[in-house]
Amino acid sequence: MTGLVKDERYLRHQMGAYHVESPERLQAIHEAIEEKFSSTSFALIPPRPAREEEILWIHEKSYYEQLAATQGKERVILDPDTSTCSESFSTALLAAGGLMEAARAIMEGEVTNAFALIRPPGHHAEKSRAMGFCLFNNIALAAEYLLRIHSVDKILIVDWDVHHGNGTQHSFEQRSEVLYFSLHQYPHYPGTGHWEEIGAGPGKGFTINCPLSPGKGDADYLYIFKRVLKPVIEAFQPEFILVSAGFDPHLEDPLSGMQLSSQGFAALTYFLLEQAARMAQGHLLLTLEGGYALEALARSVVAVLEQLSGVAPPPQIKQPPQPQTEKQIDLVIRRLKEFWPLV
Ligand SMILES: [Zn+2]
Repeated sequence: MTGLVKDERYLRHQMGAYHVESPERLQAIHEAIEEKFSSTSFALIPPRPAREEEILWIHEKSYYEQLAATQGKERVILDPDTSTCSESFSTALLAAGGLMEAARAIMEGEVTNAFALIRPPGHHAEKSRAMGFCLFNNIALAAEYLLRIHSVDKILIVDWDVHHGNGTQHSFEQRSEVLYFSLHQYPHYPGTGHWEEIGAGPGKGFTINCPLSPGKGDADYLYIFKRVLKPVIEAFQPEFILVSAGFDPHLEDPLSGMQLSSQGFAALTYFLLEQAARMAQGHLLLTLEGGYALEALARSVVAVLEQLSGVAPPPQIKQPPQPQTEKQIDLVIRRLKEFWPLV
């Protein structure tokens, strides 16, 4: 059974009438799910708010208090792209806690895999500041939750959002128990994610960045998964796979130059399902990050859920990758060869 975190309270956070990271994103997803699936297709996982001590696993207390002080205030501007309304703080706690609950449900065997349809997103949030529509770093917090509460030793975070997850990388770049793997448009917001960024100290080699020029499609992403991610998974042997599932690499998305289709996201999901089944007892948890073309976002989430729940056959991606993609990935491989069995 596939678990789903789906709750109307995630609509309460809003950053102004014209902001692209809008409650309408989730509304579109909810409507598409209600149209395509029955009420018994998924096990609904009720979210809970994350507790302060959990948030402090990743974030500074002063930052927690800064966000707590926004509660009840109509608008507080945190960075050029990110602001809060009166209910943003409580919604952000529910986002982080919702993802932890999904992780718990997987670890306790209530569901085999899950998708947390939460907002605000999280992968840009740094230790002590909000950034790029993100308040708390939901996926970093969920990884800490699994390490600390469920004694998981090795976690893989795959970040296919079109933007580099700077906050997630910074949370774990000194450590070897969480491997961060990102493909993203580069150069692009937030500016980080060069292939030379591979982690530091005991975490050296456990950060893998695949910076890509615009125009990449389904075949390119799948090629990178097979050529780089697969051998890394085999060598690292993660016990849990977390995914920062951003749908902004979609060809219709206004915030990127990538050209993925909804079937491309389905193919990436199927690939990760296979890897999770082989290496990580099926433990696979996706969390919603970006994705701003409402129809494309909803269609893509449905395509991913069809794979997670096994109701659709795996999509066939037949085209070859672009020659330029192979060249860009050669740089990544050359840098990481000493750490992983890459050819
Ligand atoms: Zn993004």
